[in-house]
Amino acid sequence: GEVVALPDIQPSNLQFVKTGNPKAPPPSKSLMFGHTFTDHMLTIPWSSVEGWGTPKIGPYGPLSLEPSCTVLHYAQTIFEGMKAYRDEHGKVTLFRPDMNMKRMNTSASRIALPTFNGDALLELIKKLIHSERDWIPREPGHSLYIRPTMIGTQRFIGVAPPSEALLFVICSPVGPYYPKVSSPSRYMELRNISVPLPVVCRSIMSLIPALLIQRTTKGTGAYKLGVNYAPGVMPQKEAAKMGYAQNLWLHGPEHYLTEVGTMNLFVVLKKGDAIELVTPPLDGMILPGVTRDSVLALARDHASGASKISNLPEKLIVSERAITMKEIQDAEAAGTLVELFGSGTAAVISPVNRIGYLGKDVLIPTGDDGMGPISRPIWTELTGRQMGTIPSDWSVPV
Ligand code: PMP
Repeated sequence: GEVVALPDIQPSNLQFVKTGNPKAPPPSKSLMFGHTFTDHMLTIPWSSVEGWGTPKIGPYGPLSLEPSCTVLHYAQTIFEGMKAYRDEHGKVTLFRPDMNMKRMNTSASRIALPTFNGDALLELIKKLIHSERDWIPREPGHSLYIRPTMIGTQRFIGVAPPSEALLFVICSPVGPYYPKVSSPSRYMELRNISVPLPVVCRSIMSLIPALLIQRTTKGTGAYKLGVNYAPGVMPQKEAAKMGYAQNLWLHGPEHYLTEVGTMNLFVVLKKGDAIELVTPPLDGMILPGVTRDSVLALARDHASGASKISNLPEKLIVSERAITMKEIQDAEAAGTLVELFGSGTAAVISPVNRIGYLGKDVLIPTGDDGMGPISRPIWTELTGRQMGTIPSDWSVPV
């Protein structure tokens, strides 16, 4: 018979139920990342019979789930992380939100959750942010963190694509991820431990069908799946016990660098009279970060002369290539290791000042402000574009 497409997300059907119990946003100074949530959330149910149902913005609160539902057993959950910024005139913007919508669909496909029209979800997210706009802190470096999530909700303890799912979006006012402390020597004292594991810890090989293992041993790092994160918590605890702030995830017997904490990774090396900015390639193991893409685009435009960034070295080589711990150690010994930093929505750019590796520390230079000659101008440009002080079409009005 005729194939009828199931309904996609319909912003025009939005139901809005205002909370009867509004809270006052807490003082910005007291904000700790991810602890405070706003008054409302967006929910959109999906079923394999009816497609996407009525979107609703209603009071933030507990979800009602059956204990048998698939997310609770097989980690059928994906998420995104994006931020809404408010400039000094009160204008609210998102940063490259189309990339988050695209990535969320890619993640959904990877674990057989339903896909959706990204523009439609974005329209609804904008409505949610508009309703929560008084929660966006005004202080520099502050923003409203947006967490779109999708879970499998079917009551069924079998491993299969769920026939029911729930997409929801919650919002959390946040300050700088790593708060600046008064002593400059402690600012950004992000100490990192590399755990020399033969596989990247974030991939769960045992969940991948044997056929796929033969084709790729790269796991699921390229997707933003909940399942990638839980196995990193124990190593994180071990690193903290040893006095390091994050893990540097290595891959393979060559000890290729992949990501740091939950950030993409950049290394800066001196190459004769030029500077090379290196980041590992998107080879299936690494999350395609929005911040990573933005850092690369800014650096490439500078290098090509298309759009110069002030204070960035003139001779800049931008490389997406594999890099090993051996190369890092050799660069440290030769005095050509300029910087190493992580990039992500939450922290924007996080410099690393030492890496514990095979019982020794690799030391990385950092300036008084914690940053270096590449990260500082890039951070300035990036945060300027995010906060609206530097005009850019990456900044999308809400
Ligand atoms: N890698 C991982 C594993 C992450 O969780 C994140 C945060 N989303 C990133 C990298 C950085 O991605 P983005 O710049 O899009 O925040």
